[in-house]
Amino acid sequence: MSAAVNAEPLQDRAESLSRRFAEVYGQEPDGVWRAPGRVNLIGEHTDYNNGFVLPFAIDRSALVAVRLRRPDQDPEDEADVVRLASTYGQKGRGLSHARFRTGGLVPGAAEGWGSYPAGVVYALQQRAGVSVPGFDLLLDSTVPVGAGLSSSHAVEVAVIVALNDLLGLGLDRPGMARLTQYAENEFVGAPTGIMDQSASLMGQDGGALFLDCRSLDAENVPLPLADHGLEVLVMDTRVAHSHADGGYSARRSACERGAAALGADSLRDVAADADLSGLDAEVQRRVRHVLGENQRVLAVVEELRRGNVDGIGELLVASHASLRDDFEVSCPELDLAVDAALAAGALGARMTGGGFGGSAIALIRAEAEDEVRAAVLAAFEDKGWKEPALFTVLPAAGAGRL
Ligand code: ADP
Ligand code: MG
Repeated sequence: MSAAVNAEPLQDRAESLSRRFAEVYGQEPDGVWRAPGRVNLIGEHTDYNNGFVLPFAIDRSALVAVRLRRPDQDPEDEADVVRLASTYGQKGRGLSHARFRTGGLVPGAAEGWGSYPAGVVYALQQRAGVSVPGFDLLLDSTVPVGAGLSSSHAVEVAVIVALNDLLGLGLDRPGMARLTQYAENEFVGAPTGIMDQSASLMGQDGGALFLDCRSLDAENVPLPLADHGLEVLVMDTRVAHSHADGGYSARRSACERGAAALGADSLRDVAADADLSGLDAEVQRRVRHVLGENQRVLAVVEELRRGNVDGIGELLVASHASLRDDFEVSCPELDLAVDAALAAGALGARMTGGGFGGSAIALIRAEAEDEVRAAVLAAFEDKGWKEPALFTVLPAAGAGRL
């Protein structure tokens, strides 16, 4: 196993999870599966415009230990019961429990975090015609919740790769990406795209996933950060501004209006140098961001193919400026994190995710990590703002059995 994934002590985690599983459920698990979170390197607000994104799977992941129910060993009336436990949100050795039945499963039938595994079961039933038996599952994840690293998809992807193996379903990775998207859209009720699951399923150690959101074509491009002495610092501002939801739908509809006014089905079908002067000023800015951002993704992919990892910094900075000034989805906390990191020597930095709070990322030299961290913390302290959560990530392999 590679250095990047070994940044997480995966075998140790898997072994202690198996032991814990046996304590909780009184049986050995059938196996342990891993699914990573993700960071979007560049390509923001392009997904719903059928454009390009470039996420990478990170060395923080959800691990699940799973045991399918056996007709000969489990009580008959429990054949379709799913028992779930997670180490999340509990102090010491406490666990968060959830439970549902695979029989007659409908949206709303599972509560809290149980809706993510239940959504995967529902998607397998509805979209793949799979009859899913009951199972026991123990989850332990190092993907922080709500930091913009897609902890929810890590859970869903871990569950689907486990069930795919255990039930011998033979699903391919794009197929599992579509099923987890269905789970999140139709069962959990979150209108998310295909990027997060795709990165978690198809990421490669030392690589980023170049994804065309129109064709769903996915290609790994080299992102050997560790070989270049680089890493990505995630700066979670720990703020979530209340206009995030409204702001998101307003941006989506401005993009749709822009595409319609330009006679296109989506902004993907608009030329990068199209004449935008006929659009009203606000729509013009939104469209300019999306067209430019798609070009920046292509430019980053080009640099990475040439092995010029250091050369992508400026494109990250340009992405942030466009999100701040033209798409207007940044906020003072994200701007401060980006500016402080750049002033302390980061090669590039940008907000990542939907905006209005959440996380920014900075591409930094590993040896400068302490300096950049200190600068960002000092900048927030100066303002009297809540301390951001800072941690580094590297590109890691996609989901699979441990
Ligand atoms: P994110 O951006 O991190 O995906 P979401 O709000 O989409 O944020 O998903 C977070 C939710 O995913 C949590 O509230 C919880 O329901 C579920 N989740 C994530 N990680 C875990 C975990 N380790 N244990 C239990 N539930 C989890
Ligand atoms: Mg999520």
